[in-house]
Amino acid sequence: MATEYDYVIVGAGSAGCVLANRLSQDRTTEVCLIEAGPRASSIFIRMPAALTIPIESSTYNWKYASGPEPNLDGRRVGQARGRGLGGSSAINGMVFVRGHPKDYDGWAEFGIEGWSFADCLPYFKRLETYHGPGHPLRGTDGPVSVTESRGDHAFYQRFLEAGTAWGLSQAADYNADDQAGTHLTQATIRDGIRCSAAEAYLKPIRDRKNLTIRTGVFVERVMFQGNRAIGVACSSASGNEAVRASKEVVLSTGTIASPQLLMVSGVGPRVHLREHGIDAVVHLPGVGENLQDHVVAPLRYRCDKPVSVKAQLGLLGRARLGVEWLLFKKGLGASNFFEVGAFFDSGTGADYVNLQHEFLPFLADFQDGKVVLGDGFQYFVSQMRPFSRGTIRLVSADPRVHPSIIFNYLDDPRDITEMIAGIKLTREMARQRPWDAFRDASLDTALDGASDSDIALWLRANANTEHHPVGTCRMGSDPLAVTDNAGLVHETEGLRVVDGSILPNIPTANVQAPIMMVAERIADLMTRT
Ligand SMILES: Cc1cc2nc3c(=O)[nH]c(=O)nc-3n(C[C@H](O)[C@H](O)[C@H](O)COP(=O)(O)OP(=O)(O)OC[C@H]3O[C@@H](n4cnc5c(N)ncnc54)[C@H](O)[C@@H]3O)c2cc1C
Repeated sequence: MATEYDYVIVGAGSAGCVLANRLSQDRTTEVCLIEAGPRASSIFIRMPAALTIPIESSTYNWKYASGPEPNLDGRRVGQARGRGLGGSSAINGMVFVRGHPKDYDGWAEFGIEGWSFADCLPYFKRLETYHGPGHPLRGTDGPVSVTESRGDHAFYQRFLEAGTAWGLSQAADYNADDQAGTHLTQATIRDGIRCSAAEAYLKPIRDRKNLTIRTGVFVERVMFQGNRAIGVACSSASGNEAVRASKEVVLSTGTIASPQLLMVSGVGPRVHLREHGIDAVVHLPGVGENLQDHVVAPLRYRCDKPVSVKAQLGLLGRARLGVEWLLFKKGLGASNFFEVGAFFDSGTGADYVNLQHEFLPFLADFQDGKVVLGDGFQYFVSQMRPFSRGTIRLVSADPRVHPSIIFNYLDDPRDITEMIAGIKLTREMARQRPWDAFRDASLDTALDGASDSDIALWLRANANTEHHPVGTCRMGSDPLAVTDNAGLVHETEGLRVVDGSILPNIPTANVQAPIMMVAERIADLMTRT
């Protein structure tokens, strides 16, 4: 097997799969894609409804934890990250959201040239085949299948009706028209099967001779000659090896692993590297800074009638679900259960919609790493453009030791204000008449008649991650920027980062689609020059 390629891409996640496909389109370009995890072809990854099973498994999930989070009562917050071909797109909730045009115009205004919404739109279109009604802003022949959910369970309908009764409109296509209002969710599902980045971008090209895909190979560090990246040092069941890159090493290991890999390789804040006995190749103080995530709070309602989807998930129900999905790829097995949602305004002075609802037609509690189901329904309210910023720091120079992750959730008072508003507005929506026949009790009684400061305390005890970390190797040209506007790492040669870590600011979206768009655009820049 060759050990030198034009491009070595590290990490076969949402971004890495896009790059591997696009860079190897030119058959004279030799590309090697290296992934630490397995091939990830399990039925539980493919079946949308089985989504919690890979999340519970250490085979497919790196199982990081952030914290202690200073503003969440010192709690540690589990942070799932996908491991295997497809990366996090193989274990995520499959909800497909581009974000608001103003998110990207904001990146451009922030000084990241080439990333206004008008610049990004062609790449959003390029990555998708949208199976919904035709629309000039939607893609029709891209690798990722995007399907509109049916939303035909009674609870999904009540969610939409309650939104309308409260005053929200229903968005026709939140990825092309106005984002505001309730909606039927669009999901990365093709013919009832999860359409992960690997399914979309790798499966159709597995016969390309100029693309080598290595799984079960852990990259330990980037190798440098001076400040030029010349390859990566790896380890696997067959031992240690070096894989060389004549053009570029591209890190697509994600928002947590990319800054860690840079730092253990000597790229990062000099003083911090020295604390771990690492000589700096390049002093880049912004590596690991600017960590952002969507914070989410669950509002849960019990329903004593056997209507919720939980009622269909007994032993017999699960057997039927399995058979129906195996034979026809239809039925409950083909659903990610997030079939409706909403974007709305907190009314606290944001420029545009700044809160999101995701919704489950049953109660789901994570207990001891397992999901326990209950009868009822659940609103998840999350803040879309948090002001708080966190940090990733090394705990050890050993790349296998998980780094310290502190999100600093709810550190900025504006985040508390927006979340308190979100909780109050959500409780109003859940009190609307369409829910009357089904809402037996709020399980969060601590919120009944609560003052704003009570809600703040409740948030500190109950807020969680939406699993959307971004920003730790952000693009830009200021002293804390890590890469330029094409992902090239400042003050190095032959080294690029392309994944969630280079996003300068988190968009009003679940972040897989924005990350794939970023990878599509940078791949285009790389193959044009
Ligand atoms: C549980 C969960 C639910 C989510 N739900 C949604 C959702 O519904 N919709 C949405 O849009 N987004 C969702 N997200 C977020 C989204 O999936 C991720 O943010 C996105 O996929 C990240 O893409 P990435 O390319 O930055 O990194 P990843 O997709 O995480 O890829 C990184 C890859 O690098 C590999 N890697 C890491 N370190 C090494 C190493 N040292 N050597 C070799 N390989 C390495 C990893 O194994 C992984 O395959 C969710 C995420 C999770 C975890």
